[in-house]
Order: sequence, then C-alpha cells, then structure tokens
Amino acid sequence: MSNLFIFSSDLRIEDNAALYNASLDNTGLTTAFIFNPAKWKNHNDSPLKIKFQLNHLQKLREKLIQKNICFKVIHADGIEEEPLKILNLAKELQSAKIFINKDYGFNERRRDSELEKLADHEGISLNLFDSSIIDPRNIKTGTGNFFKVFTPYSKVFRNLLTSEDLNIDPEPKTQEISNFQNDEIPEYDLEEENFKNSIELYEVGSDNVHKKFDSFLQDKISDYKNLRDFPSLDSTSKLSPYLTSGMLSAKYCLKELLSQFEDIPGTGQYSWMNEILWREFYRYIIYHFPRVSQGKSFSEKYDQLIWRQDATDFEKWCQGKTGIPLIDAAMTQLNQTGWMHNRLRMVVAMFLSKNLLIDWRLGEAYFMNRLIDGDHASNNGGWQWSASTGVDAAPYFRIFNPITQSEKFDKNGEFIKKYLPNLQSIPANSIHNPSKDLRIENNYPDMIVDLKESRKRALDAFSSI
Ligand SMILES: Cc1cc2nc3c(=O)[nH]c(=O)nc-3n(C[C@H](O)[C@H](O)[C@H](O)COP(=O)(O)OP(=O)(O)OC[C@H]3O[C@@H](n4cnc5c(N)ncnc54)[C@H](O)[C@@H]3O)c2cc1C
Repeated sequence: MSNLFIFSSDLRIEDNAALYNASLDNTGLTTAFIFNPAKWKNHNDSPLKIKFQLNHLQKLREKLIQKNICFKVIHADGIEEEPLKILNLAKELQSAKIFINKDYGFNERRRDSELEKLADHEGISLNLFDSSIIDPRNIKTGTGNFFKVFTPYSKVFRNLLTSEDLNIDPEPKTQEISNFQNDEIPEYDLEEENFKNSIELYEVGSDNVHKKFDSFLQDKISDYKNLRDFPSLDSTSKLSPYLTSGMLSAKYCLKELLSQFEDIPGTGQYSWMNEILWREFYRYIIYHFPRVSQGKSFSEKYDQLIWRQDATDFEKWCQGKTGIPLIDAAMTQLNQTGWMHNRLRMVVAMFLSKNLLIDWRLGEAYFMNRLIDGDHASNNGGWQWSASTGVDAAPYFRIFNPITQSEKFDKNGEFIKKYLPNLQSIPANSIHNPSKDLRIENNYPDMIVDLKESRKRALDAFSSI
C-alpha cells in the first residue's frame, strides 16, 4: 500500500501541498514523474526546459529517497495516455489515494477529470490541490464576475490576501516504510549545440534556487523598479525558470517578500510583487477563459484578423536577422541562452505581430520551443498582450518603435554589442539604426521592413476588424 503523488509544475518538496498531504497517512508514499516526449512536443516545451527539469529531479529524487519516499517514472506517449498510466501505477501500488497539484491548462484539466472518473471507478480517490496563491474562483469583481483587467484584479488580490493564504506547507513526512524500488531518471539528449551550452547556465537543486532568491531580495530588489527595464543590467531576479517548473513557489516568494519589506507603492518590492501578481493573473485567465489555451484570441473578434503568411520574414525574425540591432540581439539572447529580458520580449513580440503582421501564435510557439522558463499562461498572456488580442492588452494602435525602444533602454548599445559582437565598432549614436555604409562595412543586413509603412499596414488590418 502506498499513496501516489504525481509531479506537475511543482518540482519541489518544500511548500508542496499535494506532496505534504500525501505523506500524512504514513501508509508509504510513492512519487511519480511523467516522462512524456510526445506531450512536450505537442505543447512546444523546450528541450532545454525538459533537461533542466530532469537535472533538478535528480537532486529531488535523492532527497525523497532519504525520506523513504519512493520515486517512479511513468512513460507515456501523449497526454491522452496519462490517465490510464497513472491509474495503472496506482493499482500496482495498491494506492487508495492519488495526489496532484493542479495545472490550469485546458489539456491538463481534461486529463485530471478523465483520471478522476477512472480512479473513482476503481475506488481510488483523486485529491487535487489548488496551485495559485488565492484560489482563482475567489477573486471576483463587485458584480460577481471574473476580472479582465489587471489593476483592479491586483487591488482585490492584495485586499483579499491573508496570512493563511501564505501558509507554507512543511516538507513531506519521512515514511516508515518504503517497499517499492526507485526508478532512475531517464536519459534525455539535448541534440542542439546551443541548448548544450545554455543548460550549463542554470544551476539546479533547492539550495541553489533559494540562494538565488535570497540574494535578489538582499542586493537587487530596492533598485528593481528603476533598473528593471534595462536589458544590459542584471537587475531582475532571473527566477522565472525556477518559478515555471515549480522549483520555487510563488507563494513562498510573496511570504518572504512581505515578511522582509513593506508593500508600499513606488518601491522596488511593490513592483516586484506586481510581477508575481501578473503571473497569477495570467494563470487566473487560463483558468476562467479556457479558450486562450485552445489557440484562440482572448478578444474573440481578433480571431478574424488575416495575418501575413511569410515564412522568410518569420525565419529572419527567429534567427535574429531582421536588420534591427535590438531585435536581433534579443533573439540571439533567446537562441543562445534560453531566456530573454522582459522589455525585449515585448519589443520582439510587437514587431512580429504588428510590423511583420505575422500571427502571434507562431511567435508564441517559437518562444515556448526555446525558453527555459516557457510557461503556457505567462507566454500566451505576454504574446496576446503584445499582439493586442489579449486580456488587458496594449491597444492595437500602441505599437512600439523598436529603434526608439533601443535608444531608450539600451542607450549605449551595451546589450546589442554583447549579443551582436560584429557590431562592436559601431559608435553608440549609430548602433540603434546603422547607416547603409556601416551595415555594409559590418556585414549587417538591411531592415526587413520599413517601420513607418508596416506600422500603417498593422493599423489598417487591426482597425478593419
Ligand atoms: C511575449 C512575452 C512572452 C513571455 N513568456 C513568458 C514565459 O514563457 N514564462 C514566463 O515566466 N514569463 C514570460 N513572460 C513574462 C516575463 O517576460 C518573464 O517572466 C520575465 O522576463 C522573467 O524574468 P525574471 O525572472 O528576471 O523576472 P522578474 O522581473 O524578476 O519578475 C519576477 C517574476 O514575476 C513573473 N513575471 C514577471 N513579469 C511577468 C509578466 N509580464 N507576466 C507574467 N509573469 C511575470 C515571473 O515569474 C518572474 O520570474 C513573457 C512576456 C512576454 C511579453
């Protein structure tokens, strides 16, 4: 007999409600990770993110075994197979209870309801735990509807938040018996050279993750509000890979933040908390508006928009060959490291969906495929915000000019030169939009679109809807 816990986006043993509760019966506990390459491919999960998770799981596995908690791997071929595979393992272990922290994506919810039916039929209970800081069903407007605008959502969130919401579950209890054999973490090859290099950048293991968070709070949070928009500075937390895979919990972050700092508007801590709330907000949106998880625009009317089909322009955007230095440097950062600064994510996403008028869904998928922090809710939210099709999105006529953004946020071209070293010799005042001669001299391509004309083309397309 053993309770069964299934890992989702919660690769941690601290503050893991489902795991902790699964350990309380003391009837033995088995944890299982689902190795599902077909699902990862279908969801465009980056091989880098998967390898990162498997590296972290290696450490987690050791900790679990020390607590007499078993570690198993379920092999599945697509998410549709998961309910039956989970059930089969539960039967093999003679589990009376299965425990899962909910993921809110459409497919994951469908999987859990399928599993619930199957388990119920076998007399096994499925115990699902909410994975938001405040249950998304409890955050409502004055008229009882769900929010579609961030600022009032965040105000209500702050008002509702109690110390109980920030209760941190202890580590799971050490089990008296462990009567099943542990599985090894499966081999997973990163075939691409860029991925092989970038995986080295990301440390795993709970101690490292907490150290990173602590040093951000100590050294950087006070300047966060003023410095966070400058991509050449290391001024944001870079915790997104850990938050996405659940190696660090957002609830734990808020609890620590609010125990060390006052939540005063205008401060670094206030701004940083707002970003954690944006993350919660996008999870809230996919929960209440599942259409966004099904490849649709949040704003339904924009499903009619006719996007340009231009594989050459799209490829140039992907490879950072647009002829706009800030965009090309940003895409190089993504391709080489698996991460991109937030300001640049907005700039490149707007450029693709507005100036190139290419469907934001292609950009969304490309990001997922490269990002180590690829998170369905935040990525979809960020893309739809930039493309003006989303919840509380940028209005369609607000189109960032990438050259002006470059002059403003990378004034001296430090970020550009870091990722495009061939532009090293170009002076700062020319780096944002090099002259024809400088382009030829430095073997740098012309811009793939005229910014003024393409802006007008986007305005026409959006305003015609
Ligand atoms: C087009 C686009 C795509 C994006 N895709 C992702 C994605 O796949 N995964 C992802 O985690 N974030 C995504 N973001 C949000 C944001 O860019 C990253 O979370 C941030 O850059 C991560 O860096 P950081 O950890 O240093 O963030 P910090 O500035 O230190 O913020 C702390 C945490 O708050 C959360 N956060 C910050 N900004 C946002 C935001 N705008 N929306 C939602 N959550 C936020 C993240 O979890 C982040 O780690 C996207 C934004 C855009 C515009």
